[in-house]
Amino acid sequence: MRAELIVIGDELLIGQVLDTNSSWICAHLNEIGVQVKQISTISDDGEEIINALALATSRSDVILMTGGLGPTKDDVTKQTLSRYFNSELVFDEKVLAHVKGIFEKYDRPMLPENIKQAEVLKIAEVLFNKAGTAPGMWIKQGKSHVAIMPGVPSEMKYLMEHEVLPRIKVLPGRKELIQNHILTAGLGESFLAERIAHIEDRLPAYIKLAYLPAPLQVRLRLSAEGDNHQLLKEELDSFTKEIKDELKEYCINDNEQTLEETLLDEMKNLNLSLALAESCTGGYVSHLITEIPGSSQVFLGSIVSYDNSVKVNSLGVEQKTLNDFGAVSEQTAIEMAEGVRQKLGSSYSIAITGIAGPGGGSVEKPVGTVWVAIAGIKKTYTFKYLFKNSRNGTIIRASKNALYQLIQ
Ligand code: ATP
Ligand code: MG
Repeated sequence: MRAELIVIGDELLIGQVLDTNSSWICAHLNEIGVQVKQISTISDDGEEIINALALATSRSDVILMTGGLGPTKDDVTKQTLSRYFNSELVFDEKVLAHVKGIFEKYDRPMLPENIKQAEVLKIAEVLFNKAGTAPGMWIKQGKSHVAIMPGVPSEMKYLMEHEVLPRIKVLPGRKELIQNHILTAGLGESFLAERIAHIEDRLPAYIKLAYLPAPLQVRLRLSAEGDNHQLLKEELDSFTKEIKDELKEYCINDNEQTLEETLLDEMKNLNLSLALAESCTGGYVSHLITEIPGSSQVFLGSIVSYDNSVKVNSLGVEQKTLNDFGAVSEQTAIEMAEGVRQKLGSSYSIAITGIAGPGGGSVEKPVGTVWVAIAGIKKTYTFKYLFKNSRNGTIIRASKNALYQLIQ
């Protein structure tokens, strides 16, 4: 089953809004074994929409469109579709009642444009949108099925989950897709590929191995598509195990979690708590952790000790240490980690101090020098890095590496 997306919106093409709809839709289609072969981003322009749709319906089974369903003049999708499918726009009573209800609830006057929200293509199956005012539509043309959804991400997601995915799941011709994931950290993509080349060479053509690199880590995704689910699963699991055994010391998990999620889970299971003292990362590690729901069960807090005075006053770093070794040094990192561990009463703590650049740095301590200290119940460990990235890259890599050291 071939799928493609047509993402509509001038705001996407001038770089004002990031197209998060596509990645969300692709991920959810992938989960149910539907492969997206193309994403077209086009402007709010009738001709462009028609051209994209003509091409898409000529080659794809499922076409998902988002954007341009609103009541304003710049949103032309509905009028264009009416022309393309040669189907008039008609009022849908249920949608009209729903739109009226929303305006009444918020005590807002309804303008003629808002009433137009209840217009749908006569040939379309209406996808009722409880999350907003613009209804979605499902249209069959030849062998293609076209879903039309609003651009607002929350509304698109609602319609995908409640109306579109259930319809796609029952279409004929969808092959089961099974996937396994292995998250690795600490070994670069090409080294990793070399290590598992002898396994990769033996993979049958219907099993695909993808390398998805990110700072510090590489996610390996093994996927297989076919009819005999049970057999495929066994084969995939067997290759996955072989790869995991080969990469043992670099494997973080095989359950699709992020590195941070795995770390927090492990700490939660061991009843451990975590505190941070962040200098050059300015709270980025805290952000990575607090993005995870339930992180409060492990994470106590962070002291962002950017200035030396905060290192001294809030963490108890000795002024003499700063004078003798400097803020970016092993000794300072140790005192920061031990200081915050004691102040916040955590079982473990991580301290990070470094020179993110682009300014600063010296011959002995060039830009990109970072010291990480991890204070535990018995001992404090230190790690030195020299990152050769942009400021932002150094902040991300320092944060990821610090968390990785704790997971080890
Ligand atoms: P509405 O009824 O709200 O007008 P609509 O279908 O007309 O819905 P758009 O006007 O195209 O939707 O987009 C509304 C907003 O949704 C945009 O301003 C943008 O912030 C967001 N949006 C649209 N498309 C995308 C996308 N592909 N990814 C992320 N956000 C998007
Ligand atoms: Mg728009």
